[in-house]
Parts: sequence; C-alpha cells; structure tokens
Amino acid sequence: MAKAEFDTPQLKGIPVIPHLQPGAMAHSRPFVAKAEHQEPLGFPGELVDDWKTKAIDKMGELLTKYRALPVFLDACVKCGACTDKCHYYLGTADPKNMPVARQDLLRKVYRRYFTFAGKHFPKLVGAVELSEEVIEDWYRYYHQCSECRRCSVYCPYGIDTAEITMAGREILAHIGIGQKYSNEIIGKVHKIGNNLGLPRPALEDTLEGLEEEVEEDLGVKIRYPVDEKGADVLLVTPSADFFAEPHVDGLIGYGKVFHQAGISWTLSSYASEAANFGIFIGNYENMQKVAMRIRQAALDLGVKRIVVGECGHAWRVAYSFWNTLIGPFDFLDPKYPVPQHVCEFTYDLLQKGALKLDKAANDDKVVTFHDSCNVSRGSRMGDFPGGQFVIPREIIKASCNHYVDMAAETIHENTFCCGGGGGLLTDDLTELRVKGAVPRMEALKRVIDEDGVTHMAAICAICKSQFTKVLPFFGMGMDMIISVHQLVGDALVLGAEH
Ligand code: SF4
Ligand code: SF4
Repeated sequence: MAKAEFDTPQLKGIPVIPHLQPGAMAHSRPFVAKAEHQEPLGFPGELVDDWKTKAIDKMGELLTKYRALPVFLDACVKCGACTDKCHYYLGTADPKNMPVARQDLLRKVYRRYFTFAGKHFPKLVGAVELSEEVIEDWYRYYHQCSECRRCSVYCPYGIDTAEITMAGREILAHIGIGQKYSNEIIGKVHKIGNNLGLPRPALEDTLEGLEEEVEEDLGVKIRYPVDEKGADVLLVTPSADFFAEPHVDGLIGYGKVFHQAGISWTLSSYASEAANFGIFIGNYENMQKVAMRIRQAALDLGVKRIVVGECGHAWRVAYSFWNTLIGPFDFLDPKYPVPQHVCEFTYDLLQKGALKLDKAANDDKVVTFHDSCNVSRGSRMGDFPGGQFVIPREIIKASCNHYVDMAAETIHENTFCCGGGGGLLTDDLTELRVKGAVPRMEALKRVIDEDGVTHMAAICAICKSQFTKVLPFFGMGMDMIISVHQLVGDALVLGAEH
C-alpha cells in the first residue's frame, strides 16, 4: 500500500473546482541540482554572485530569441478562462497554480525591466523588482507545471504557459539553480546515451534476456537487436522500455510487430533514449545535443527510416523540432515519414492487412485510453488532422473487443496531464504528482464505475511510470496501466499469412 505524508484527495465522482487555499503548495520544491549535475550541461555549479543581473540579462536574451515569449507576456487580458484548467490547481487549490498566476510570476518581473510603464510606474502595472523571494517562487511554481499546455487550449489568445515555465526554468538554471532530477538525467544521456546510464553491455544483456523470455513464452524466436548495421529501421524508444513495467511489454509488442511484418530493425546503444529532457528545462542547446545522438546513430547504422517508440515528449521533440534541430534527413528513404511514430508504423501495417490480430486474446480487459499531453497538444500523427487521437484508438480497437472513452472534456486536446510530466516525475515531488493526478483519476473512476473499465492504455513512458506510482494512492491497482503495444503484441497472430 502506498504511504504518503499528506492527505490523498478523495475522489468525488464529479469534477469540482476547489476553493482557494493560498500557499497550499508553497512547501513543494524539488531538489536543487548540485554542481556535478549543472556543470556538464553548461550551467554554473551554484548560485552566481551577480545572479540578479545574470537573470535579467538571460530574460532579455530569451525575449529576443523566442519571439512568442514577449507576445505571451504582453497579451494576457486576465479574462480568467484558464484559471480552472490546470490539474495542479484542481488538485492542490493553490492559487499560484492557476496558469495565469503562474505566468504572472515572470510577467511582473518582465514588466519591471522590459516595459516603459513598468520601469516608470511599476505599482500601476503590477511590476516588481527581481528579489530572492521572487526567485524562490519561480523555483517552486515553475516546478509545479508539467508544461502540458492544457491551459493554452482554453486561452482566447493561445497563451502557452509551458513556454513561460520553460523560460523560468532556463533562467534559474543559468544563475545556478537547476533542478536535480532533470539535469542529472540529461547528463547521463550526454555521457552514456540514456536516462538510466545503462551502458552498451548492460543493454545487450537486457535485450538478450528479453529474447529468451519471449521465446520461452511463445516458442518463437523474436529478435530485439542492437547496433545492427544495415537494418531498415532504427527504433528509438524511451529507456524505461528496456525493463520497467508496463513499458517493457510495449517493447515486446514492437518486436513482435517487426517480426511479423518481416522488417529488419535495430536499437542503438549510442542513442538508446528517445526521451529528451532538454525540452523540460527549456534549453535548446541541451535538447539539440541529446537529439543529435539519434541522427548520428541513424547515419552510423545506415538505416532507411527512424521509428519513435511510445514516449509523449520524445514524440513532440521529434515531430515538432527534429527538422530544425537535427535535420535535414536526406540520407533516409524519402518513401517514409520522418520521424514516424511506432503507432503510425503499426497502423499502416494494419491498414495494409499485414498484421492479423485476434481481439479475443484481450477479452479479459475493458480498455480506456489516456491521451498524453505532448502527443495531443504538441504534435500530430498520420496525414490527417486529429490523427494523434484516432490512430492509437484504432490500434487499440483492432486489438481488443471492449473499448470505452473517458469523458470528452478529459480526452483528445482536452486531456489532463498524468501529473508527472515536464520533468516532475521524481519522488521529491510525490505530493504534487498525486494531487496533480486527481482530474485524470476522477475521469478514470467514472468509467470504472459506469463501464467496468479494467485497464488504461497509454503511449507515454512518463505517464506509465506516473500511473504505476499514483494509482495505488487512489485504491486502484498499479497494473491497470498498460502499453498500447502490449495489447497489440498479445493479440498478434504470429506466423499468420499476409
Ligand atoms: S501548462 Fe499544464 S501544468 Fe502548466 S499551467 Fe498550463 S495546465 Fe498547468
Ligand atoms: S485565458 Fe489567457 S488571456 Fe485569459 S487569463 Fe488566462 S492566460 Fe490570460
């Protein structure tokens, strides 16, 4: 049974907008990165002496570099449409977790130093000096935003709080106050190639063990190859897929799909990570450096195409940024989209009749689907609008007989974050993660009670880890959360003619 040093919110069965509790989450702050986690990323090891000047200079640089940032800071009319849209506000009742209030933490400093009115009449426009207190609030509340972008869907001006959070975190890291969890992980990818710091021999052992396990289960030799030059496909997948539950069942599923389709594929030990935490800390250079390993691996292995495994923000980075970040991809086969999501890959095979699925294999399950934020609001799939919503659902429906959607206001572009995205999937933020999961848990509970749902499928490594952790807090089994490609793998008829 999960233990907590806070009260787990009771699920009410209906969405409730909480009464304000100022300061309710003022105690929540993740561990600060040590010098050993800061310096390899190009940030100072500790708070710099002239932090105030450095922070304002950095803000000025970001305002010029990211053209949307000053627009977002200027455009808000305080209409209030976003106030009750953030899962962290709904779960914690802390008013500083309202998106507009979160934005204002940076906006009021921006006004003081970068606008005429703020420089000359600060009180009139709510502008404030940068102070230690302000920096403290930035650190707390920019680490209570999962950069999920739900609030931006409801803002009449499309103001994206995630971009403001990223800028806040970037400034903090630049003056020496980075977040330990994200920066340590990025450092591991730079050094070894994945978030876990899993070196090549350990990766090879893990995959060999997986091959043996699958062969024992099925009596069929399914390969999980690594560093195979000349394979058609390079699969980049979150490293959690190599061993975590339920992630690894997704990896087993991908292998079965490749096997049945007769398409050669490989993982890479150099680029053994699809996740890219560079986006979470808002730092372009680190995001590029992490992504560049994938381009290099594709070139070294001589593949024709790159397929991305089940990982929400990895897909957003790939879909929305790879082209300018690490492109062009003129060395790949132009017949295939770059990048291609593993769901697009499987969907395409299903459309062509290249896979035979026996839905009855999943008859012990009633499945619902959790749309991941970065897939839903930060990217797309397939060649039609809304493909990111349709394609995973079509794959699930092809794999099982019983499928139910959660309430409309909690899925598709309205989806609620799992509560652990954006670099917050760390045990020092457990209270925030549990409380931030409340809106999704409410919606899930409704389909459990009304439709008998037994499992929730997802296509994001962070969502899967987060739900494994928080479901027991709400009296639900951690094994309710499953990989979409687990459903596919379990239903796939191996050896069927096509
Ligand atoms: S981006 Fe998501 S987590 Fe951040 S304020 Fe908006 S709704 Fe909340
Ligand atoms: S919805 Fe947009 S304009 Fe309205 S308060 Fe929120 S951020 Fe400001």
